[in-house]
Amino acid sequence: AEPLSVVDPEIAAVLSQELGRQRGTLEMIASENFVSRAVLESQGSVLTNKYAEGYPGRRYYGGCEFVDIAETLAISRAKSLFGAEFANVQAHSGATANAAVLSAIATPGDTILGLELAHGGHLTHGMKLNFSGKLYNSVSYGVDPNTFLIDMNVLRDKAIEHKPKVIIAGWSAYPRQLDFAAFRAIADEVGATLWVDMAHFAGLVAAGLHPSPVPYADVVSSTVHKTLAGPRSGVILSRDTALAKKLNSNVFPGQQGGPLMHVIAAKATAFLLAAQPEFRDRQARTIEGAQLLAARLMAPDSAAAGIDVLTGGTDVHLVLADLRNSALNGQEAEDLLHSVGITVNRNSVPFDPRPPMVTSGLRIGTPALATRGFAAAEFTEVSDIIALALLPDPDVAALRERVLTLTEGFPLYPGLEKW
Ligand code: PLP
Repeated sequence: AEPLSVVDPEIAAVLSQELGRQRGTLEMIASENFVSRAVLESQGSVLTNKYAEGYPGRRYYGGCEFVDIAETLAISRAKSLFGAEFANVQAHSGATANAAVLSAIATPGDTILGLELAHGGHLTHGMKLNFSGKLYNSVSYGVDPNTFLIDMNVLRDKAIEHKPKVIIAGWSAYPRQLDFAAFRAIADEVGATLWVDMAHFAGLVAAGLHPSPVPYADVVSSTVHKTLAGPRSGVILSRDTALAKKLNSNVFPGQQGGPLMHVIAAKATAFLLAAQPEFRDRQARTIEGAQLLAARLMAPDSAAAGIDVLTGGTDVHLVLADLRNSALNGQEAEDLLHSVGITVNRNSVPFDPRPPMVTSGLRIGTPALATRGFAAAEFTEVSDIIALALLPDPDVAALRERVLTLTEGFPLYPGLEKW
């Protein structure tokens, strides 16, 4: 019954230091967010103690009567949030969800066609060192070297050439919406299964601010912790109940053992919150913030530093700054922003002349700041700070002060002392 600070002061210190870091900096990693206090409570609960292999009503363990309620709520809320006929909420993470999806819709050795990692795809979409590239014959499509957009004609040619079993639509770093109807048409033409991984933009879909892939795809997977702002985990959806059994059995027992019932309860809470008007407003501020940032980085005084924005803007929650013409590389730009208190990640741009550990790009996202309450005025100030930080000889101390003014104006987890 002793508190963490007594039992394990070293870990307690990490928790409070991390809370301090999150409070005192501007979090702009595009894949991150802040869960609500309600989600923290569900996740940090006694449900972590419970084994519940199986599915609600069909468990391999006794005592599941209450966790069954949590999982049933999570399933029904996920289905109604995204208009799906089927949901599996047990995936421990996005990568695990994707492993289960692939094993349900393809057989090792089958050809899969996904977006090239270096062009914004994800590891689990066929990268050679990932299970998806090891177990399956992975081929990829990229973006156009001039527009940096996915060229659906090139994709169609690749699909016709390789006859993939699975076509994967989805990305980790791409600033535009995908044309799901066009993906569907190509999949139908070559007889492929269409899988959409909406991990990044699921929150925008839930808010109705991005087209939904659910009506088009055979299977949709997602993380729950990015724009959706839930606990770190995954979810699988389908409009096709014929796939339900296969998807479920490929999560458990295919990929996982006991589900994380505390995380599933937190997912239920997150899906509930994502259906509220406040969530839609937050997603709208997220996109607006990214668009303000893109416009600021492309403004003439920023361009003097050689900063560009891939595709000339964004439709989503992130901006890809292109530093190929800048004296700064991605690593230096990331470090500079870190020194003023803004956390981003460097990111290769397609056809990047610099090596992957250095890169010529930055991926800058707005979901966490929108969750913190930022609207146009604050995003304009953040955009100014970023643009100034990336100019030659920035006044780091002055910019750090401006960041602190913003962080103090938008307290994170007010009232929470430890975590
Ligand atoms: N899919 C996409 C498109 C992602 O961007 C990510 C995470 O970055 C994942 C899947 C994997 O999620 P996780 O980190 O939870 O395994």
